[in-house]
Amino acid sequence: MAWRFALVIDPAAPDDEGADYRDTLHEIDPHGPALGVGELSAQRGDGVFESLGVVDGHPHEVGPHLARLAHSAALCDLPAPNLAQWRVAIERVAREAGAGENVMKLLLSRGVEHGPAPTAWITLADAPDNTSGRTTGVAVATLDRGYALDVPARAPWLLLGAKTLSYAVNMAAIREAKRRGADDAVFVTSDGYLLEAPTASVVLRVGDRFVTPEPQAGILHGTTQLSLFAYLEGRGFTTAYETVPAKDLATADAAWLLSSVRLAAPIRSVDGIEVPVDRAFTDELNAYLLSPRD
Ligand code: PLP
Repeated sequence: MAWRFALVIDPAAPDDEGADYRDTLHEIDPHGPALGVGELSAQRGDGVFESLGVVDGHPHEVGPHLARLAHSAALCDLPAPNLAQWRVAIERVAREAGAGENVMKLLLSRGVEHGPAPTAWITLADAPDNTSGRTTGVAVATLDRGYALDVPARAPWLLLGAKTLSYAVNMAAIREAKRRGADDAVFVTSDGYLLEAPTASVVLRVGDRFVTPEPQAGILHGTTQLSLFAYLEGRGFTTAYETVPAKDLATADAAWLLSSVRLAAPIRSVDGIEVPVDRAFTDELNAYLLSPRD
């Protein structure tokens, strides 16, 4: 990954209306060491994050990403992030973005063990080339997430709706999907319902209806899916959040993985079975997703 820029945010900044936060932001070497050895993000994956797409210098969906950062922080009992300060920091980092696609990561950890404050920082890097996923599409393998649909409500300490830094399980799922000859995974509950991919939301098209699994089912509410639903509703389509049986993935008229940097990647096969890809419609969705969006 080609790192471009990194910024540390002083979390002790006052939350005053009209405050000028610029002197609470400290540029650091994006290629150098930056975290203390007692940093709990590294020791325990104890923190939350967001990945934003930045296209031609414009950071996409800043409001929804900050709302989800605050939601994840609340689920993890982290101090509420100062969103006005984060907005100033995001604008500062976006000025360093080049033409084309970049990825900005917002990170908020519990800080250094026994330390006084959380640690907050932002990185900016070139985005990977996602052309093939957006055009040819992705083969997915469905993987059992190992719990039933009601577990997120019964065991909120599993933090299933928070975007935590503990992505080791998500990365293991992608490796397992690759061992099965696929490009990516789609998690399903042990009682047979669709959830999400390890780094993306799943959206199905059935006729003129677009459906995604309920975010209350212990999955992330995708900012890309939210934005796409608003676009689709503007185009006269119906959208819905539902409890989706896993078997519907292979019988849908079309399906996509959606995320902030990859954007819309059509699913071209499910567990080795080819499924239809609507290339022209996917191109239209990606043209929308690449346009400046707030
Ligand atoms: N679900 C998971 C587990 C993710 O990691 C992501 C993004 O990284 C998403 C869904 C999609 O979210 P967004 O569209 O906000 O990138």
